[in-house]
Amino acid sequence: MTEYIIEPPVQPSIAVADSAARFPVRRIFCVGRNYAAHAREMGKDPDRDPPFFFTKPADAVVDDGVEIPYPSCTGNFHYEAELVVAMGSTASRVSEEEALDHVWGYAIGNDLTRRDLQLEAREKGRPWDTGKAFDHSAPVGPVHPVSSVGHLSEGAIQLHLNGELKQSGDLNELIWSIPEMIRILSELYVLEPGDLIMTGTPAGVGPMQAGDTCVVSIAGLGELTTRIEA
Ligand code: MN
Repeated sequence: MTEYIIEPPVQPSIAVADSAARFPVRRIFCVGRNYAAHAREMGKDPDRDPPFFFTKPADAVVDDGVEIPYPSCTGNFHYEAELVVAMGSTASRVSEEEALDHVWGYAIGNDLTRRDLQLEAREKGRPWDTGKAFDHSAPVGPVHPVSSVGHLSEGAIQLHLNGELKQSGDLNELIWSIPEMIRILSELYVLEPGDLIMTGTPAGVGPMQAGDTCVVSIAGLGELTTRIEA
């Protein structure tokens, strides 16, 4: 048995719907600007340029219903409602036809963003990590297995902040479909079980304040509630 000089980190994980078992998280890949209206609100053309990706650390995941602190070093802390794909088997250079065979299930996510830091990095051509990959930046609800919900290609995705509708879209508006994203990511990386893919957000992103409650819903997957500490 390996002896470690410090206590090894706890395996990050997310809940599984209707199960006491947990889904272990290996990596979190995120897709930028995957809904046309959101690309436009961010001042970019919603064209079919190849998609671009960024990542969050696995231990940024936060369960449904957990209260998180308002993050440091930002005055413009944003929500982003997203569908999350949970990978269940190794996918390397897979075709779009094979891609969905490697999906274990789907969950609701919130790609929390320090927008001021992200935009400053974007303007200066710097990495997005401080804007996107911070502690508690990835609330993800329970994973629903494909065996119970099937594969998702359409259905409402919404976000309410303090009860007010802020984002409303449909999964059929994704610029890059889930099979296309998996095909492209599997060329860049060997995707492994436990990898998550956050698939982009519809239009309507905006700021949250301390004490706010943010609820993301996706048809068939229920809700994901995140509260910001007062
Ligand atoms: Mn996003």
